[in-house]
Amino acid sequence: MRDGPIRKTLKAIARGCFWINLAGTRLLRRLRGERPYRLGGACERCAACCEAPSIQTGRLTWYFPMLRRIFLAWHRHVNGFELTGRIPSERVFVFRCTHFDWETRRCDSYSSRPGMCRDYPRALLWQSRPDFLPGCGYRAVHPRAEEFRAQLEREGLPPDKLAEVRRRLHLDP
Ligand code: SF4
Ligand code: SF4
Repeated sequence: MRDGPIRKTLKAIARGCFWINLAGTRLLRRLRGERPYRLGGACERCAACCEAPSIQTGRLTWYFPMLRRIFLAWHRHVNGFELTGRIPSERVFVFRCTHFDWETRRCDSYSSRPGMCRDYPRALLWQSRPDFLPGCGYRAVHPRAEEFRAQLEREGLPPDKLAEVRRRLHLDP
């Protein structure tokens, strides 16, 4: 169901908090010396990322029933995300998005979509092995890709081996 003015307002406030929290978290990680992959490629508008949006939570939200209920109620009633599954080993909730039209593969409330939809797939760039959805036009590019590519080219590997190593190490631009 398309967002009305109340949902749009709540989601705009939530987005502001989301961006502030995200900027702070990523800044801290950079200050600790972490370097994310860079984002390569472009969005192909396949909408695969709308099929089963998932959210990793902190320990408090995952283990405390009251917090978990508030978290899930917010996503159900504000973002239109219905819980469909859980991945306990990663503290991930998996949802079905009620804004997603499976026939047209469009979002009925694109202008008020949550911050996590706007940020996708940048969170993956902080993983040690970024795993993009099959068919996604984006890809992870190693932060030192140019330097490693130059080193590899000096090794004189056969072209197919070189291409394989570049792909595995996320060195393609
Ligand atoms: S809110 Fe829109 S962009 Fe986000 S998952 Fe749902 S359909 Fe996709
Ligand atoms: S899965 Fe990737 S290419 Fe497809 S819509 Fe989402 S971000 Fe774009």
